[in-house]
Amino acid sequence: MPELPEVEVVRLGLERGVVGRTIAAVDVHHPRAVRRHEAGAQDFADLLVGRRVEAARRRGKYLWLPLDSGDAVTGHLGMSGQLLVVPPDKPAETHLRIRLGFADRGRELRFIDQRTFGGLQVVAGGAELPSTIRHIARDPLDPEFDDELFVGRLRAKTTGVKRALLDQTLVSGIGNIYADEVLWRVGLHGGRATEAVTRPKARELLAHAREVLAESLAQGGTSFDALYVSTEGVSGLFAHSLSAYGRAGQPCPRCSTPIRREVFMNRSSASCPRCQPRPRHPR
Ligand SMILES: [Zn+2]
Repeated sequence: MPELPEVEVVRLGLERGVVGRTIAAVDVHHPRAVRRHEAGAQDFADLLVGRRVEAARRRGKYLWLPLDSGDAVTGHLGMSGQLLVVPPDKPAETHLRIRLGFADRGRELRFIDQRTFGGLQVVAGGAELPSTIRHIARDPLDPEFDDELFVGRLRAKTTGVKRALLDQTLVSGIGNIYADEVLWRVGLHGGRATEAVTRPKARELLAHAREVLAESLAQGGTSFDALYVSTEGVSGLFAHSLSAYGRAGQPCPRCSTPIRREVFMNRSSASCPRCQPRPRHPR
């Protein structure tokens, strides 16, 4: 699933590709892709046609395009969603779900989604911050992120550190990949109790989170399963720089101990047994 760097790469592509343009045509090829838009596909289209895209914004893994109507188109890429900005005469992709054409007849915006967990919807009055994502916390790269609030809220929790990092109401944009990378960098096992993390350690964790997210962003994100691509269809290169995630059995880049894989919330966690000792009672 795309995390902050991947979604930010897409946002930058939307900013370049569709902002300032007026939507002229909307084709919904698969109803599931607009299932979150409860009034249905026709209403979705009616709210978009004739509207100008004012900006491309993101909070955590959520994207939205404010419109000149004051509404917003929100998008979630789910597991396999792609937003491509392509020439109108490009043949339809196999998993094309929604197509937005523009009044200038230039490149169109296509939502492609193999597994259809993602989708688009129009949120009334959502230009500033759509109601559907108001509960999502700011992300560590957001200039308005409050470090001390995060540190306090993290330590007030009674859970494991990895679970806390994945909690999008505490800090957004971090999923399984970057949680494993941050924990490896800071030297904490994901099962470590949040209330036992000292304030300096929590600040260190945040600094590592910023660092790994920024490094990944600079490389276009992580295209681990080849589904995530930019709006130009380009894969990110950060998978080559991962230290823990997806590297079970391979040597830890710091101490050469083989990276261990543990089951975590029906998925898996990768960590170094030596750099990230498992607590006696993991959470
Ligand atoms: Zn190690």
